[in-house]
Formats: sequence, C-alpha cells, structure tokens
Amino acid sequence: MKIKYLGTAAAEGVPAIFCDCETCRYVRKHGGRDVRGRSQAIVDNKILIDFPADTYRNTLKYNIDLSKIRHLLITHNHEDHIYPTEFKMIIDGFTNLPKGYPPFNVYCADDVASLISEYEEKSPENLKINIIEPFKPFEVLGYRITALKAIHGTPEMKPYIYLIEKDDSALLYATDTDIFPEETWEYLEKAKPQITMVSFDCTNGTDEEMPYIGHMCFGKNRICRDRLLKLGLINKKTKIYVNHFSHNWPILHKDLVKKGRKEGFKPSYDGLEVSF
Ligand SMILES: [Zn+2]
Ligand SMILES: [Zn+2]
Ligand SMILES: [Zn+2]
Repeated sequence: MKIKYLGTAAAEGVPAIFCDCETCRYVRKHGGRDVRGRSQAIVDNKILIDFPADTYRNTLKYNIDLSKIRHLLITHNHEDHIYPTEFKMIIDGFTNLPKGYPPFNVYCADDVASLISEYEEKSPENLKINIIEPFKPFEVLGYRITALKAIHGTPEMKPYIYLIEKDDSALLYATDTDIFPEETWEYLEKAKPQITMVSFDCTNGTDEEMPYIGHMCFGKNRICRDRLLKLGLINKKTKIYVNHFSHNWPILHKDLVKKGRKEGFKPSYDGLEVSF
C-alpha cells in the first residue's frame, strides 16, 4: 500500500491563516516542508481520507481527478476534515456525469453525514453516504476498512481513526485523537492486525506533555507506540509517521526530524508518499 499526504496541518494551517506568531513568520519566510495545508491523505490514489477546504487546490496541486476517485473516508466533523459547502458542487449541473456513473461514496459517522445529506437528497446518483459504525469492518475496492473510536472533540461527536488493510499491509491512520480509548485497544488486541504503518496525530509536536485532551505530542505518541509493540501489533520494521501539526507548538520540520530520529518517528509533510 502507499499513502500520500496532501495536507498535514491542524485546522488553521501552517502558517496559520490569520496569524503573525514567530512560527508562522518563520514558515512564511523559509517555506519548504514547513508549509502545511489542512489534513488530507490518499491511499493508493484510490481512497481519499478527509475533505478540508483545501481539497480543491489539492486536486490541482497533486493532479488528482475526483471524478475518478469514488471513495472518501471522513474521520470526524471538524471543519479541517470536512468542508460541507463544497459538496454542493457535486449536484447535477455543477457536476456532469454520464448516466450510470458510479457515485462518490462517503463513509462516515452519522454526525458527519448530517452535514452533507442535503446534497445526497438533491443528487443521489452522484453522492452516496455510507454511515459506518466503529469496530465493524467493511470492504472498499478490496481493502478491509475498520473505523476505530478516537478521543477527540466534544462528547456528542463520533470521531474515528481508521485501520486499512490489504494483503500484507495495514495502515493505522490515527489523526485527531488522544491516546486511544480502551475500547479501541481491546478491539486491536483481539483483531491482531499486523500494522505496517502508523500515522499518529502530533498536533503538539515534539513536546513531552500537553495541557489538553484530544491530540497528541511525541510523549503520547511514544505511549501508543510502546503499547502497540507490547501487543505485538507493530514491530521494528513498522513505519511510524507523525502528522497534523499546529503552529502553537514545536513543530518545525527540522526539529521533528532531529528529535524523531531517536524515537523512530518521521514527520509527514505535504506531498510526502510512503510505501509500506
Ligand atoms: Zn484536525
Ligand atoms: Zn502562528
Ligand atoms: Zn478535529
């Protein structure tokens, strides 16, 4: 399997859209891998993960034709992971597709579905929303996909992380979560996937600790990694990347590389492709 990161920042982007902090000033001046759009990735150029406001520009930047991509997983209802207004552009007239063309399938929890259901009602032949439950694997194009519960956002929300398996590869895509909830650990322990790549939330960068619940930093990534190792779900060959960075924390690419080396963590950046 192969993942391509299209956007690797938290909600406000790096540099943050309206910000003039030291990090944002540095990034505007130096550019390069520190410039990060909102969170999005694509697996094997077939399955898209998340749909931020930057999606349209990403399709141009990375030469992705969304009329050919028919499957999208959404992690949760925050605006940097789903930009509902854009779905208006899928209704007939804004989108012209031949009769019988496969619809654009969105897989998500019901709280996400409610944000875009009006567009499915208007053009059901173009958009199909598939409401998914945690811990119930489903198949898409020969990939076995399982939504796992995350810890993130408000108690009413239903945030997911995803386990995507095919042949001998398995990706654990864990963005916008704290250290996983016990239910998720229990599922993983029973299911025993042999994970070949992990992508961890690292909103708070190289910090050891963080002051609030719902995201991770190097310290929390290490706790998750050690538990995955102990459960035998990853091994020394498993690739571990960190992702979803916020300008409010120590997240410059050079520092992530330097401090990550010791841990075996590599930083994602926009446009990075990893095979695993
Ligand atoms: Zn986010
Ligand atoms: Zn800033
Ligand atoms: Zn979020």
